[in-house]
Amino acid sequence: MNPRDDIALIEGYHSPQVDVKVRLNTNESPYPPPPAWLEAYVAELRVLDFHRYPDRAARELRAAIGELHGFGPEHVFVANGSNEVLQSLCLAYGGAGRSVAVFEPTYALHSHIARITGTGVAVGERDERFALDLEEARRVLRETSPAITFLCSPNNPTGMLEPDEVVEGVVAAAPGLVVVDEAYGQFAPRSHVAAIADDAPLVVTRTFSKTWSLAALRLGYCIAPVDVVRALEQVALPYHLDAAKQLAGRLALRFVAEMEARVAALVEERGRLMAGLAELPVDVWPSAANYVLFRPRPVDGQVAWQGLVDRSVLVRNCASWPRLGGCLRVTVGTPDENDAFLKALDEVLS
Ligand code: PMP
Repeated sequence: MNPRDDIALIEGYHSPQVDVKVRLNTNESPYPPPPAWLEAYVAELRVLDFHRYPDRAARELRAAIGELHGFGPEHVFVANGSNEVLQSLCLAYGGAGRSVAVFEPTYALHSHIARITGTGVAVGERDERFALDLEEARRVLRETSPAITFLCSPNNPTGMLEPDEVVEGVVAAAPGLVVVDEAYGQFAPRSHVAAIADDAPLVVTRTFSKTWSLAALRLGYCIAPVDVVRALEQVALPYHLDAAKQLAGRLALRFVAEMEARVAALVEERGRLMAGLAELPVDVWPSAANYVLFRPRPVDGQVAWQGLVDRSVLVRNCASWPRLGGCLRVTVGTPDENDAFLKALDEVLS
């Protein structure tokens, strides 16, 4: 028995898990969650009813997330990582005969997940500095009428913010949903969450994987119009979010101050990392996220990537990705990790 023909054509999406001392390739937080969170989590796990199915509607977690953003639980959908939120959006709004629009270069999973769900992909282009021109966006919307238009702010892997007028212009022109992926939203000065309303086709996705230092947990969510949340609930499997994860997420939201301190520390380190990169022979893109895209000038990106691995530093190799020729992406780590990266890169490039 063969799998679907279209699945056979889809390439897997993998970040190599190489054994190195300094891992700066997947935009995780370099800091573990607060010890008090772990204590509270373990204490509550001890009394959890493991023999019972979890709260199917994840009411308490959704209420806590909604409160964080100033919305009621009916505006919140939660899933196993924001990738699963994106998949649920494609299942509910995509599928055979429908398409999504993406503007490359952007997060590869938007088109990947669309294809897995049998949804077509219309590709628009960013300019040579990776900014999205509203006219190009309008052209794609007009010509392909996508059921979902994906934007990403800050964009991965460029780190650039989507300007308000671009997002607003796309929302005004889109024939379907507009999903703004804000996986790195907390590192940025602006968010689009406040624009969510029942009469606007806008959805914002977020994750616990980065700011909340909980990548191992797999927890993400979106803030969306009530109708959209209802549609997402219809495509989610029964009890898709386990009780331990609901508990972990709920408890994490008691540590907002600690999380904000982590964000502030990483934003400061990002400045130091960018200043360090500015001293080296590389092109750098301005970043509003917890990673920085750069292109080494003296050597090929692939050669630089290998040189870093040889010095036990792993960054994301975008060198062979379309439109990103020669580029690498480094995650903001601890001060020591960032120093190790800058030192290794200096060696590789000199
Ligand atoms: N969106 C973007 C832009 C990302 O970079 C990532 C993580 N690489 C995700 C979504 C998915 O994050 P998660 O599934 O861990 O929530």
